[in-house]
Amino acid sequence: MFDKLHEECGVFGIFGHPEAANLTYLGLYALQHRGQESCGIVASDGMRLKAHLGMGLVADVFKRDDIFERLPGSSAIGHVRYSTAGGNDMKNCQPIMVDYARGSIAVAHNGNLVNAQEIRNTLEQSGSIFSTTADTETIIHLIARAQSDSLIERVIEALNQVKGAYSLAFLTETRMIAVRDPNGFRPLSLGKLDGAFVVASESCAFDLIEAEYLREIEPGEMIIVDKNGMKSYFPFQQESRNTPCIFEYIYFARPDSRIFNRMVYPVRKEFGRQLAQQYPVDADLVMAVPDSGMPAAMGYAEEAGLPFELGLIRNHYVGRTFIEPQQSIRHFGVKLKLNPVREIIEGKRVVVVDDSIVRGTTSRKIVKMIRNAGAKEVHVRISSPPTSFPCFYGIDTPSRKELISASHTIEEIARYITADSLSYLSLEGLHAALAKFGDHKVDFCEACFSGNYPVKFPRLKDTNQLGLF
Ligand code: AMP
Repeated sequence: MFDKLHEECGVFGIFGHPEAANLTYLGLYALQHRGQESCGIVASDGMRLKAHLGMGLVADVFKRDDIFERLPGSSAIGHVRYSTAGGNDMKNCQPIMVDYARGSIAVAHNGNLVNAQEIRNTLEQSGSIFSTTADTETIIHLIARAQSDSLIERVIEALNQVKGAYSLAFLTETRMIAVRDPNGFRPLSLGKLDGAFVVASESCAFDLIEAEYLREIEPGEMIIVDKNGMKSYFPFQQESRNTPCIFEYIYFARPDSRIFNRMVYPVRKEFGRQLAQQYPVDADLVMAVPDSGMPAAMGYAEEAGLPFELGLIRNHYVGRTFIEPQQSIRHFGVKLKLNPVREIIEGKRVVVVDDSIVRGTTSRKIVKMIRNAGAKEVHVRISSPPTSFPCFYGIDTPSRKELISASHTIEEIARYITADSLSYLSLEGLHAALAKFGDHKVDFCEACFSGNYPVKFPRLKDTNQLGLF
């Protein structure tokens, strides 16, 4: 059984650079926000693959210099990973690396396969033994069992059987392959550094290593890099249908990244402007829940003509509260992480902007904290619609019953979080903001808001198991 199919991750790959493993390390550093639980690098010297993986942050797992001496060669892929309850042990670290009849292959995956359990059941019935509880291993099994002779065809044969979200980087002794699923749920970009090709979940990884951003890898595109250069294919039977994840713009990606052909920062700021237009309020100042609410709060303040203040200060040395597995720790975590500035807040009517409400526990703590610091009124503004449905394509969201807006009206949520008022940006507001910065015909995946899932699940029974209802 797969433990749980909710995963957040970042992938990186480089081919044709003498400092491949070191640059991958830096790339992962820039992608750390996409997963803090485990990380790993697999490098190739042209003959063999070598791996180093571990639990924890990139800086901790790759602490010693001698690790890089054991990762020689001019190509490497890397992965940062976070998954919820159950799947958080060593055996689920990525990249997954295996030796099979025709050599070695490693894979780093961002996304979620919705039919992984079904495929796994079939493979296990015919004798396969899985060594991880991650959906990504399914892909490796399918590649190993594929009929075709060439590796590329085997990869295509395998990927034609899986459904869902996958931005992948593969590494063999002599090749790097990068693929985005036909819906393009998760971002993946292509860059270049000193003649070497680089792929990364977000362009902020290119900025750090000073690679040139070339372009987004297209939905359904497969890029193959070897000593002869780079080739692009669109090999899938399934027609490409661009449904990139809108939540990447709202919360997940770094604001300094370019994803899905738009910079995140101006989009996020525009969400705040739209929010101010839709839900103005008589107030003295605007503040953000740092860091996720920052750009939207600045947009809100600008549009509303109100001062923007740092009313909450974040301690950056605490992990994301969301990551703590137990409710008791999560409550404590908010206090650890944020402290209100009484001098700014006291006696004021404040607008507090955050990107989303999931369970409602964070907002409730924050509103109380701001009131205790002397605020006269607290108006909460959220720069996305109510999150009412879980994500099955690679963003970690709890089951439907834990999502506060799945079972409560906005008025009830406002009461629960003890806000004087609460408003969420509408889907139209999101679209209007996105249209200002790029192709407005893109059909984003908005399943977390609408319940309209662009890739269906194989059997209703599975979705029940996944906590959709
Ligand atoms: P909650 O207390 O469950 O309502 O959490 C809301 C907070 O979680 C907001 O401040 C969001 O910025 C943040 N958040 C939203 N989605 C995620 C996610 N997938 N992973 C981690 N944090 C998130």
